Amino acid sequence: MEGEAMSVNKESYEQLKADLGSHHVTLVAVSKTKSVEEIKELYDLGQKDFGENYVQELTEKQSQLPKDIRWHFIGHLQSNKAKQLAPFIHLIQSVDSARLLQEINKQAKKINRVIDCLLQVHIAQEETKFGLDETELDTLMTTNAGELHGLQNVKIVGLMGMASFTDDMEKVRSEFKYLRAIFDQHAKRQMSNVKLQTLSMGMSSDYFVAIEEGSNMVRIGSLIFGARN
Ligand SMILES: *Cc1c(COP(=O)(O)O)cnc(C)c1O
Repeated sequence: MEGEAMSVNKESYEQLKADLGSHHVTLVAVSKTKSVEEIKELYDLGQKDFGENYVQELTEKQSQLPKDIRWHFIGHLQSNKAKQLAPFIHLIQSVDSARLLQEINKQAKKINRVIDCLLQVHIAQEETKFGLDETELDTLMTTNAGELHGLQNVKIVGLMGMASFTDDMEKVRSEFKYLRAIFDQHAKRQMSNVKLQTLSMGMSSDYFVAIEEGSNMVRIGSLIFGARN
């Protein structure tokens, strides 16, 4: 419909919310490139978790929108920008190095917060996707467990991953299975600031497969907001 092209797809949203709710899966609405008006529209339908990929875009939107929105950072985060997110971020889903974790901890400590983080694991075949590989994750979680223990202003609450961008759902499924196995393996290990509970996997095109493979948090943009430019 002309003039309504910019608005939220309410039907898809309600359907999705009902589907996910019955599976106890948390929906993060990915609002990158979308306006504050569009976000507010979805917020008014009851959505509280929103995900963004860019620090500047996120901080600008955050300042204009209701303060009870739970903002998730899902893009690649440069260490020097952690400071801008620290005061308000609900969950940083894309932690991919010990160095970044240390920086988030440092910024959180200054303002007396404990920031929840997910470690991003590289599960796709594409070279371009960020994240730790299995060995790097092992190193961070086990070899460097002592160092990790010292970071009392961050809490590692789960893992995040993105599958390959392909129509081959069996390939996507095998990547999600792989992440689930890694998750289960590390979920046994618990420290005061490490307790894996959230498995964030699944986007508009593959969330149904992700849920079948054990995801309990999906990050969905285009299905709710329409295609991005
Ligand atoms: C953009 C993005 C999404 C959402 O993608 P859609 O296909 O629009 O659902 C999910 N996760 C990450 C990390 C993203 O960058």
